[in-house]
Amino acid sequence: AKLAKTNGFAVHGNDTNPLVNRWNGRPYSKRYLEILEKRKTLPVWHQKEEFLQALKANQTLILVGETGSGKTTQIPQFVLEAVELEIPDKRRKFMVACTQPRRVAAMSVSRRVAEEMDVNIGEEVGYSIRFEDCSSSRTVLKYLTDGMLLREAMADPLLERYKVIILDEAHERTLATDVLFGLLKEVLKNRPDLKLVVMSATLEAEKFQGYFYGAPLMKVPGRLHPVEIFYTEEPERDYLEAAIRTIMQIHMCEPPGDILVFLTGEEEIEDACKKISKQVANAGDVYGPVKVVPLYSTLPPAMQQKIFDPAPPPVMVGGSPGRKIVVSTNVAETSLTIDGIVYVIDPGFSKQKVYNPRIRVESLLVSPISKASAHQRSGRAGRTQPGKCFRLYTEKSFNNDLQPQTYPEILRSNLANTVLTLKKLGIDDLVHFDFMDPPAPETLMRALEVLNYLGALDDDGNLTKLGEIMSEFPLDPQMAKMLVVSPEFNCSNEILSISAMLSSKSHYIVLSVLCLESNRMSKWKYNNGLRMLLLSLRMHACLPSIYEDASWCYENFINPRAMKAADNVREQLVRIMVRYNLKLCSTDFNSCDYYIDIRKAMLAGYFMQVAHLERTGHYLTVKDKQVVHLHPSNCLNHKPEWVIYNEFVLTSRNFIRTVTDVHGEWILDIAPRYFNLENFPQCEAKRVLEKLYKKREREGEESKN
Ligand code: ADP
Ligand code: MG
Repeated sequence: AKLAKTNGFAVHGNDTNPLVNRWNGRPYSKRYLEILEKRKTLPVWHQKEEFLQALKANQTLILVGETGSGKTTQIPQFVLEAVELEIPDKRRKFMVACTQPRRVAAMSVSRRVAEEMDVNIGEEVGYSIRFEDCSSSRTVLKYLTDGMLLREAMADPLLERYKVIILDEAHERTLATDVLFGLLKEVLKNRPDLKLVVMSATLEAEKFQGYFYGAPLMKVPGRLHPVEIFYTEEPERDYLEAAIRTIMQIHMCEPPGDILVFLTGEEEIEDACKKISKQVANAGDVYGPVKVVPLYSTLPPAMQQKIFDPAPPPVMVGGSPGRKIVVSTNVAETSLTIDGIVYVIDPGFSKQKVYNPRIRVESLLVSPISKASAHQRSGRAGRTQPGKCFRLYTEKSFNNDLQPQTYPEILRSNLANTVLTLKKLGIDDLVHFDFMDPPAPETLMRALEVLNYLGALDDDGNLTKLGEIMSEFPLDPQMAKMLVVSPEFNCSNEILSISAMLSSKSHYIVLSVLCLESNRMSKWKYNNGLRMLLLSLRMHACLPSIYEDASWCYENFINPRAMKAADNVREQLVRIMVRYNLKLCSTDFNSCDYYIDIRKAMLAGYFMQVAHLERTGHYLTVKDKQVVHLHPSNCLNHKPEWVIYNEFVLTSRNFIRTVTDVHGEWILDIAPRYFNLENFPQCEAKRVLEKLYKKREREGEESKN
């Protein structure tokens, strides 16, 4: 054991003493042995030998198995064992990667696996998600989001640190997984020693097989109990209300068993959790106690872990048993398995990305799920015993309205970021890149156009120096551009804070959660939220430690936890700035240019997301001419003539969210090429800009004279 520690690396299979952990030389804990017994009952364990044989004989392998059969937690450990046996020289570094489309899953599963292997998270087993790397030089098994593996490929094109790469949840067909498919196909040709395992929960697997040159397919039979499915007789007008009603009915009338409810996002989930707790409290003590747990991606890890806590015990001996109610986004559909769920409530919706290349709008839209999703959701009820699934839609609607499969994300996304990544990876011929489902040519054209306007690609489509630096930031291209040029506007400290807040979603927490505290709301509005935000930004840019003072935060409407998250993101962005010699600077706060410089820098990134206030009182997006409304969460106390926006929100109306006031003159200075009036559609904005150009000319003439 001592030897292992001093070597700083794994001791191999301690055959003489099976009670010593081969990874860190410590004796196994009691918990390890307990979990091991449970693990051995998982379906994949019955096919362990078969799997290892197949892995040995093939470079690529496809594995399909019902959710909960042990793919994500067990297969990487099997792989690790096999790899370790093949590389007897323990000083040589080898690593196994397992990708997850969702950050919550990467975090949660890696923690579980660290526990199963009886090691500390971040040591032998780690995880890596955007803005958070929990791994070390000792790490041999790393769970990471598919997006992070793509980022790693930018620095290490042959992914040489890995011996085996496992693409998990392949059926989700996320954008990053789809790009990795194409990329890895090439890498495998150049690295005969690398192996790829593609894991999926559904049977689209034949398609994967065809794509990966007929790689062998291994099926792990599920272990599902029957699930009875109920539909509503009539369509539900308000699914949230219907879901809560159903929960209460189950709680009052059905035998013990936990409940899983699928909702669409953080706000809705938090709202539902409050309502459920209230109704349960109102129902009285005759019914058992309830523990309501939310699950969504921005939840802090300690809270995420609560979904695995057992249901609460009866209030008194012999009282009604307790129930756990998990209110989750799609992440509980296939990525995470919660044991003990007997009842599933499926309202039939999830938040899905949609993209319209014609008007260049990407948005998250609450949309009906597919039949495949509905099937997965109901399956969650039958993991440990027979269960029930309540679908809050009619059977007719299930049969006639739901699509069989969800479309791959690549067909529903803005590809600017992906194209920038591919260019950085040296893939120039996008048209012939081996996509499993090629994106629409119009979408690719749009992406190239955006990158060209931003200056990331030249007119021949080659990556520029600016584009290269932009690609280093784990941000969308507009934000990356804003950051890279911010020193020119003398406000990179502030733009770093803005980017960090926007990326960690905490701007949203700062603005809306605190705005909702109604008695303080008027003060907030009165103070003109934008100025307040900018003031908090200034503090953030100069004195991050001030956020550790809880009373200061309260006084200033700031959520300290959110600021801490933003701080962490900021630090990482600062490192990239420093690496590329981008100056960290601020305009003097007392100068009247302080806010102006910040807004100009923002415009330099977001000039393709400008809206103009028409005489009719509506905003129209420039060039694309979409009618939009300022989102009610905005903190402006007037309607500026020109605004840039960070987000386009499609609901019953088109909203633009996180807006900033800019001036027409700045537009001419900062983005003359995009606002070249020669190829500009006829509209009010064009006439206003024409006047501004004319005014410029006159002023030019006058100053000459
Ligand atoms: P699959 O990937 O095939 O869906 P998993 O490997 O994720 O299956 O899950 C296998 C088992 O491990 C499940 O029974 C699940 O409940 C259990 N499990 C996974 N993560 C945790 C955790 N954090 N705590 C307790 N049990 C867990
Ligand atoms: Mg899994």
